[in-house]
Amino acid sequence: MATLGNPQETIAVLQKYKFNFQKKFGQNFLIDTRVLDRIMDAAEISGEDYVLEIGPGIGVMTQYLCEQAKAVTAVEIDKNLIPILEDTLSAYANVRIVQQDILKLDVNQLVQEENQGRPIKVVANLPYYITTPIIMGLFESNVPLESITVMVQKEVAERMQVGPGTKDYGALSLAVQYYAEPEIVANVPPNCFIPRPKVGSAVIRLARHKEPLVQVADEKQMFAIIRASFNQRRKTLVNGINNAPDISFSKHEVVQALKKMGLPENIRGEALSLEQFAQLSDFLVL
Ligand code: SAM
Repeated sequence: MATLGNPQETIAVLQKYKFNFQKKFGQNFLIDTRVLDRIMDAAEISGEDYVLEIGPGIGVMTQYLCEQAKAVTAVEIDKNLIPILEDTLSAYANVRIVQQDILKLDVNQLVQEENQGRPIKVVANLPYYITTPIIMGLFESNVPLESITVMVQKEVAERMQVGPGTKDYGALSLAVQYYAEPEIVANVPPNCFIPRPKVGSAVIRLARHKEPLVQVADEKQMFAIIRASFNQRRKTLVNGINNAPDISFSKHEVVQALKKMGLPENIRGEALSLEQFAQLSDFLVL
């Protein structure tokens, strides 16, 4: 039985270990069992699943995960949390605690060792200061993944989910949607955490596409074009690409490619769908 999850129990653990929160590690611990239940429902963990948890904190969600999954690896950067985790997770034989920076860990190797390379599920209340590098790192390094269910800053969840023509649409929306189907499953107010974060939060589930959503000849080039198109929001896509140091096509070539697609030369990046960026990239061949 999970023993953590409400404010009294979390405070008792923090006091027992005289734990000091480290702002630099984005430490906001969940203290609401309804939110924990919601995350577990969305993550759909079964007894067959191998779960990677990023940033377990004092192990509140880890306990829930250990109850449901076949095995859990919890990666925590803060050395001071390791003895606490060893205590709060002592009842579980299916958990491995790794003290490491998730951005430096070879997750592919971990999945190979722990799950024979079969797809895993990632569940986390993420440290917000590195949300994008964590998520894009998992996708871009081709970690075998079924889904990622994570708590992130509310605005970031919205950016991941929206489509063309909205103000939040950008490089992150396109990158995430290339790899996965996003679904915001809950909005979570600051009072569900200790200490309270200054921003609102949301739980988002990213279900990995079996195949990428669009076919594109040069994935790297497409993402360079996408980044360039959103780098200077008020500029046209043609100028954005022209100003990007890592893209060598002339203005004329980009205008011609847009023409072939039936798009005006003054169009902005935020008007293009993922399919259109893929097509544009394929028309721009070196
Ligand atoms: N899972 C806990 C919970 O829900 O109460 C804690 C979540 S807290 C928002 C983020 C956690 O990630 C903290 O425990 C923090 O120390 C850890 N963390 C921060 N940066 C990290 C990194 N680079 N690698 C691994 N863990 C990290």
